[in-house]
This record gives sequence, structure tokens and C-alpha cells, in this order.
Amino acid sequence: MKAFAYLLLVGITLGACNTEKKETAAVKPGITKIAWGKTDNKQVDLYTLTNKNGVQVKISSYGGTVTSWIVPDKNGKKANILLGFDSLSGYLTPPPYFGALIGRYGNRIAKGKFTLNGKEYQLATNDGPNHLHGGVKGFDKVVWDATVISDTMPSLILTYVSKDGEEGYPGNLKVTVQYSLTDDDELAIDYNAETDKATPVNLTQHNYYNLTGDPSNTILNHTLMINADNYTPVDSTLIPTGKLVSVKGTAFDFTKPTKIGARIDSVKGGYDHNWVLNRKDNSIQSVAILVDSASGRKLEVFTTEPGLQFYSGNFLDGKLKTSNGKPINQHTGLCLETQHYPDSPNQPSFPNTILEPGVKYQSSTKYKFSLLK
Ligand code: BGC
Repeated sequence: MKAFAYLLLVGITLGACNTEKKETAAVKPGITKIAWGKTDNKQVDLYTLTNKNGVQVKISSYGGTVTSWIVPDKNGKKANILLGFDSLSGYLTPPPYFGALIGRYGNRIAKGKFTLNGKEYQLATNDGPNHLHGGVKGFDKVVWDATVISDTMPSLILTYVSKDGEEGYPGNLKVTVQYSLTDDDELAIDYNAETDKATPVNLTQHNYYNLTGDPSNTILNHTLMINADNYTPVDSTLIPTGKLVSVKGTAFDFTKPTKIGARIDSVKGGYDHNWVLNRKDNSIQSVAILVDSASGRKLEVFTTEPGLQFYSGNFLDGKLKTSNGKPINQHTGLCLETQHYPDSPNQPSFPNTILEPGVKYQSSTKYKFSLLK
């Protein structure tokens, strides 16, 4: 019965898409693909992953960008819980990393410099004096090769080879990212990489969540819980000071579910910090829970990573417009980026981010959607 309902659903979805876009094609059960445009002389596609509950995730081969994630609210009304655009042109402008894969190094490296095996490297600086999210043309702005599988669930496998010297980094880095949509409404992201020279690697993903499903609302009424007793304070250019500081008694204490808006005014510029996750071991574990009680939507984050960047959409300023022409204002989306700590290549006390040849980089994160009980 379940299988029949699933086939029916996929059939209806395909039928609906077929009337809209001629090029829509079922590439595998639960996966469709449309041609989405061209950039860098390369074809860009948009894939739709659908699970048995009718939950849908759309991902583009441009930047490995998740453009929408459609889920119901407590009344069954479906909406997109991500900031994103309907067309490729929205991403070419470019927005601040909406839904994108981030690399080679997520977050900042101070002054774009680091020393490795006695040699100083200078990376592109694209955020004041610092290097941010892989540089001028990071992994968010390249076209990835894509294949799909759907043996147990719909998955999109993206690969990209970042050349030796790209954005100043040493070594050819082969990266594979697998996005999967499970029947438990989880968006699972598995990252793998290999290099031929030692290089810093810190891969993450940059969805902006707004669980109200309406980007004209802020996220200040969402409650957030982060399983972290410490965070890494930053200087005025958002580079960690190197200290791990207790969240106790501060606006950074999210060990109990707390409204994001409750204390945000006391944090200069808003939240844009790395939390040092409490970890038992290296296995994938629950690290954060985001809730919008008005819609009944809940998002739980699981990861193998030691850190979480909670960014409260501080730099959104209304200049960017949604596909419906509405301004995307400050705090209308938030990011929960699983990662190693920012500036680790210059911070000997932080967990290592240097990938050596012959060693496999592996990292897994899951975002699990559910409705409050
Ligand atoms: C960074 C912010 C940055 C934002 C860009 C976040 O990961 O921590 O400082 O402005 O990405 O969207």
C-alpha cells in the first residue's frame, strides 16, 4: 500500500512538472531533473528529490545549492523553509551563499594566510582582510558534476575537482558530496575528499532556514538549543581569539531551548559564532534543535563535526529580493553550519583541519525535519 502511494505521488509530481516544463524527466524513482540554465559554458541542472511523505528538496548542480525544501506545517500546509530563488539568475548575482556547498574552507582564515610544512600560503581575501568560505570563487560558485542514485532513497552525488592553486590553496582536491532525502524527512549530507598535497579542508553547507515558511517573517521567535558548553569568541573581523569560553551566564547559552530574539540585542552585530559542540565520540550525534512553535515545525541537526556556526542572517539588509519581489530583510533566515572551527590553520589548539595525501576526509551531517508532537 505504502509503495503504491509512493509511486502514485511520484507519478503525480512528474505529471504536474511535465505540464510546466517539457524537459522534466524522471531520472530515477523519487528524482526528477530539469535543465536550469548555463554558466561558465556549462549546463546547470535542477534536481528534485521527493520522499514517500511528499517532502521535496530541490538542489542545483550550480554550487550544489539547495534552493528549496518543501514541508508541511501542523495544519498540513506546505511551504519552503529555506531562503532561495526560483531561477539560476538569482544565484549568479550572487546572494550570500544561500543553500550552497562551502569549500575548500568554510568560514574565515585570518588575512587569508597560513603556513604549512614551512611554506606560507596566501589565499584570496574576499571579506575585508580575511578569506571567507573558500575565496572569490568558492565551491558555491562552480558547476558540480552530478549523478543520482535511488537504491534505498533518492540521492544526488556531486563531484568537483578543485585544482592545485585554486584560490591560493595547495593540492588538487577531489570532493564528493552526497545529498540524500530519507523517508524520515532527513536531508543527509555526506562529504568526502582526497588531496595530492597537504591542504586545509573544512566543508559545510549554507542553508538559511526560516521555519515559518514565509521569508517576510524573521526567525527571532524560533527557539534554538545547541548542545555546547563553550563557544569561540571573535575579534572585530570575526576571527576567533583562540580561546574557548564558557557560554554560562551569557547570551551564547543555548544549552536549554531559548528564543533567538531574547538576547540577540546584547550580541554586537547578532549571532555569527562557532559553538564548541559537546561530543562523546566521533560518531554522528544530535547537536542542535530549532523550533518554530507557531507553525509546529522542528529541525534537528546531527553531525560528526566538532563545531557549529550559528549565523542569524545579520548581513541580510533587504536589498536582495525573493523571487516574488519581496525584500529579504535582516534575521529572516538563519544558518546552522556544521564545521571545524574558523581559522583553525592558524590556531594550533583547535582540532586539525589539514588533510594529508593518502588520508580520506569524511564528514556527515543530517537535518531532520519533523512536526512538534
Ligand atoms: C559567516 C558570516 C557570513 C555569512 C555569509 C556565515 O557563515 O559566518 O559571517 O556573513 O556566512 O552568508
